[in-house]
Amino acid sequence: MNDALELNFADWEKIFLDMNEPKFRAKQVCEWIYAKKIFEYESMTNLSKALREKLPGEIFISMPILIKQQNSRDGTRKYLWQLNDGKRIESVLINHGDHKTACISSQVGCALGCVFCATGTLGLSRNLTKSEILGQFLTMEKLNSGDINNIVFMGMGEPLLNERNVFDAIKILNDKRMRNLGARHITISTSGIVPGIEDLADFEIPLRLSVSLHATNDNLRAKLMPNVSKLYSLQKLVDALRHYKSRTGERITIEYALIDRVNDDAQYAYELAALLDGLEPYVNLIPFNAIPSRTDLKRSSESRIKNFCAALRELRIEFELRKEKGSDIMAACGQLAASK
Ligand code: SAH
Ligand code: SF4
Repeated sequence: MNDALELNFADWEKIFLDMNEPKFRAKQVCEWIYAKKIFEYESMTNLSKALREKLPGEIFISMPILIKQQNSRDGTRKYLWQLNDGKRIESVLINHGDHKTACISSQVGCALGCVFCATGTLGLSRNLTKSEILGQFLTMEKLNSGDINNIVFMGMGEPLLNERNVFDAIKILNDKRMRNLGARHITISTSGIVPGIEDLADFEIPLRLSVSLHATNDNLRAKLMPNVSKLYSLQKLVDALRHYKSRTGERITIEYALIDRVNDDAQYAYELAALLDGLEPYVNLIPFNAIPSRTDLKRSSESRIKNFCAALRELRIEFELRKEKGSDIMAACGQLAASK
């Protein structure tokens, strides 16, 4: 049997044609699921009664099961989901007043083992399916009774190591006849998977790219991000970013978590500027969020953050010091580990 959230628009049309139904049924059903967040056929009142009864036997609509929701003082929400095989993942909803961002997981765990990241301590269990990726987002919209404006692949996992499902899910989100979420409202964050970045340079949807850098030389990167740095050196990463920039014309965001006395020396701001010379990146400085497995890693002091910012300013690198959101419920960057 088919899973509804695995289907693109053409798949839906074909299914209805095969059922001797008109093609416009595809538009109707997609409107119910993706626009109205109605996930039971019996409520899809513009379908005939016979079709409403027949569809559940052909295509099931399955959503992740909400196990736990935590609400932060700052409006951030964290959701713990259970998947069909019992595995658990988390997503986060960030409220910025008038607009909302969903931070979505792409894998159960992550193989890359970055030492500062809670997800990294889990290892990789498996990739999420297209349906599980979309299901997090649609269920969050339903629970919040309204559209979520942005989606960022910054939850658990490395999206570019689950490229096919992530790209296919994005095509469905972006399709005007389905969720109709604009390309500028979709962000992929990667720890630096070079072939994935090259594919993104040719991807049909001009989404936004964020790169988790955190280290400006290979020595330090090998300590902080051991697995990805073994796969692709900083030089290879930067070459891929240059290619991406020249091909798409898009500005790249660089994520840099400031860890006390590890990567927050002003000298690293200079290294960063040299490394990314000509790329004109936008740098997001993230105050490091504590994780239980590495109590030795601490957030940089105010004065060290100030010095780092001053160096970036002097170097004319555009940056923003991000305010952490949801750290009281372990929902901030790097804190997702799908605990009970
Ligand atoms: N695997 C992808 C997507 C996850 S995004 C990636 O790494 O980009 C999660 C973001 O939070 C990444 O930028 C990651 O580097 C950052 N992060 C991980 N642990 C963190 C921590 N303890 N404090 C602050 N940011 C962290
Ligand atoms: Fe994986 Fe990203 Fe965490 Fe590194 S930071 S372990 S790549 S989720």
